[in-house]
Amino acid sequence: MVNVTVCVRFRPLSLSEKRLHGDSICIQALNTQSFTFKDEKEEDITFCFDRVFYQDSEQVDVYDFLAMPIIEGAVNAINGTIIAYGQTGAGKTYSMEGLGVLDGDRNKKGLLPRIVDGIFEFLQSLVEMTKWTVKLSMVEIYMDKIRDLFDLSKDNIQIKENKCQGIFLLGATEIPITNSTEALQCLCHGIANRAVGETQMNLASSRSHCVYIFSVQQESRTNGRLKTGKIVLVDLAGSEKADRTGAGGIVLEEAKSINKSLSALGNVINALTAGKVNHIPYRDSKLTRILQDALGGNSRTALLCCCSPSPSNVSESLSTLRFGARAKLLKSSPRANMSDAKDNMEQIIDCESLDYKSERLL
Ligand code: ADP
Ligand code: MG
Repeated sequence: MVNVTVCVRFRPLSLSEKRLHGDSICIQALNTQSFTFKDEKEEDITFCFDRVFYQDSEQVDVYDFLAMPIIEGAVNAINGTIIAYGQTGAGKTYSMEGLGVLDGDRNKKGLLPRIVDGIFEFLQSLVEMTKWTVKLSMVEIYMDKIRDLFDLSKDNIQIKENKCQGIFLLGATEIPITNSTEALQCLCHGIANRAVGETQMNLASSRSHCVYIFSVQQESRTNGRLKTGKIVLVDLAGSEKADRTGAGGIVLEEAKSINKSLSALGNVINALTAGKVNHIPYRDSKLTRILQDALGGNSRTALLCCCSPSPSNVSESLSTLRFGARAKLLKSSPRANMSDAKDNMEQIIDCESLDYKSERLL
């Protein structure tokens, strides 16, 4: 069992925050792992996490600490998940995508384009030992429905589980990618499709969860052994309370139902950290079901809690930090996904019957 890695990132003050409160901030750094936070009553609360990225942190710092170990794991057949959590405007998408995924400023590239480069760099160094395939899927969860961002006609993808793949998305498009350029083109295509859907549904991206899945499969050139590692990245919907969506936003009831999945996430974390073993409510939402492995199963998992450092957002930041503090207690059990070519055939047969059973159960 390993602990979930929990990091906090404070973005720089925005112009509107500066207009309201000047340069004042509600955090004081103690070191790279802890800081004090001034709450609404001006009382200092000390928080401690695996790593704190302050306002001047660079994208590469987040990549080195959070993503490098996950990529190394995936290439060695260990699944990994990175989840960005926080209120709208706190820096989740900036951390995940960065500015200009395809052709932007190199320093501002977020985790996704860096992970793509990282995966192929690792694989190139292994090319004499293994034949590899990398595939990318991209889906969005909105109102508890999963939409394929590579094929908008698939708008209600189902989640399944079987012995070889663990949790997977039935029929979701998986695009094979052979280098960074192709991967970035796919990502841009998915991101553009997300925007199309948002306009059609009159939905802001901050109200849906975006899930990116890289699967890395390798076959040994010497003994035919197969290794599969998955990297799942999740850019969650804004965690702010429903009443903060504003007059131009969606109606309260709808906002509440969108936030249901984040409450379900909180409930799963509570159940897991309270040591409950039989009643983990993963099936309460599509989000928690997709994240089942990441939260308590076969995955090395990292949570990035994104916050504003401004007194304007003190209650939302505090709620994000409390969520992160709870998640620090989570433990998952990553293991290497390896099989012999012969075993694999047997497993595929096994999976088919298992999948049939799990389909009936779901
Ligand atoms: P979220 O996805 O959490 O709603 P965004 O990532 O879109 O928030 O960030 C909101 C704004 O703040 C964007 O304009 C983004 O470019 C900027 N921003 C966020 N984090 C940083 C950062 N670490 N450095 C510089 N700008 C940032
Ligand atoms: Mg965003």
